[in-house]
Amino acid sequence: MTVKKIEWKKHIYKIVVVILVLFFVGGVGMGAADILAIEGVRELYTPAEPLSKLPETNEEIVSYAGSVIAKALEEKPYTQLDEIYSIDKDSVINSLDNSRLNAAAKMAADGIDEKVESAYESNTADYGESAAPFLSNSFQISANDIESVDFRRMYYRCSMCTDSVNYEDFNEKCPKCGNMNSLELRYSDNYEITLHIKPDSDSFRNSAFPKTEMLESVFAENANATSYYTFKYLEKEIKEANLFIKVNRLTDKIETLRFETLADNTLSLNFGDEYSELNDVSVGYCAKDTVTYSFSWPGVKLNVNEKTIELGSTEVLKATLTCDDPVKYDVVWTSSNEDTVTVDEEGYLKTHKQFGDSVITAKFIFNGAEYSDSCLVHVGVPAEGVDLNHGKLKLKTGSSQTLVAEFDPSDTTNTKCFWFTENKEVAVIDKSGKVTATGKGKTTVYVITDDGNFYSSCKVEVTD
Ligand SMILES: [Zn+2]
Repeated sequence: MTVKKIEWKKHIYKIVVVILVLFFVGGVGMGAADILAIEGVRELYTPAEPLSKLPETNEEIVSYAGSVIAKALEEKPYTQLDEIYSIDKDSVINSLDNSRLNAAAKMAADGIDEKVESAYESNTADYGESAAPFLSNSFQISANDIESVDFRRMYYRCSMCTDSVNYEDFNEKCPKCGNMNSLELRYSDNYEITLHIKPDSDSFRNSAFPKTEMLESVFAENANATSYYTFKYLEKEIKEANLFIKVNRLTDKIETLRFETLADNTLSLNFGDEYSELNDVSVGYCAKDTVTYSFSWPGVKLNVNEKTIELGSTEVLKATLTCDDPVKYDVVWTSSNEDTVTVDEEGYLKTHKQFGDSVITAKFIFNGAEYSDSCLVHVGVPAEGVDLNHGKLKLKTGSSQTLVAEFDPSDTTNTKCFWFTENKEVAVIDKSGKVTATGKGKTTVYVITDDGNFYSSCKVEVTD
């Protein structure tokens, strides 16, 4: 019989791995599938429901995107606009195929990037302030303008190493830990939607981006600053246009809205003075223009949302506020069951006479709206160990015997536990600890405490 302390519930699979390794080392083979098939150890995954119906068609996706932007305009989160203009220097060419001119154009590119960026208005709207002046015209796309959509809303989570794996990177073997068939499909809290827009669509060309006039004025100014050439005109051909949206599907709160265009630009220049032999030249280059809106929604978040504490002990919950000046605001703490646990104005928890559960809520009011987060606190006597009433069992095929889990201390509040067997071909074990011999051989059965901190085992030998 063994009583072992083990790390934490999250690592419950590590125990299984350890057992598996021990088995292989011990020369008793067992497939990973058998271990994974153990019932009762894994929690069932149920995804949280989205706030709005899942948008599926292009029309629905465009309309959903419009609605989450409208929500941001109405509820006024902190909004920041950043723009980046980036010239691909390798793409710079000129109509004369003049290498010196090309070198000069490449050198000038850095300065142009900066000038374009500084000409863009970097904008912010504080919490409660309207971002409409720099946001409302940004989204003028209709479903007909869309070439294709990438809609990312799921990922894989490995049940063995608990790492997450991109949906596209699915593999029978976990790319992080190498285990077979351990990836489980999960739903992200966020939708990541990329709309690939037809660059020649009317509504896109008429939208607020990209700003050709602004580019023209930068080049005209640049030409004026030197006396070598004059700027005649700029032609721009959008090759690729994408609109990226990241939104929390549980709240419909948008986090990021990004326009990205890739364009071929042709500048028409006329050289004079000492370079007059160049005369009319066109300089071409490819540039990427990225316009990003980032949103920060007011709210409060607790460091944990479920916690078990011992009777007689003190613990503290931490609340993080998202708003303009967090120290200015008071958090109001409440406990749903003050006979069990109370909370003070700093988030300190204090247990009282009774075992049981209480919901601790942190609330604060900001710009007239109330925000809250809560934590379910269990008060009880935690397990310090678990032992089985038998360390060895001898059974005949078909017969049964029930094992009893003995908790230390004996007044442990939560006596829920998980049971499993290493080899179902020899013995199975049910939720109540009843071992049934299924075939001749030897195996070991285990009990794990609900918090995952302790386990105990029993060797089972089955004869005909
Ligand atoms: Zn893994």
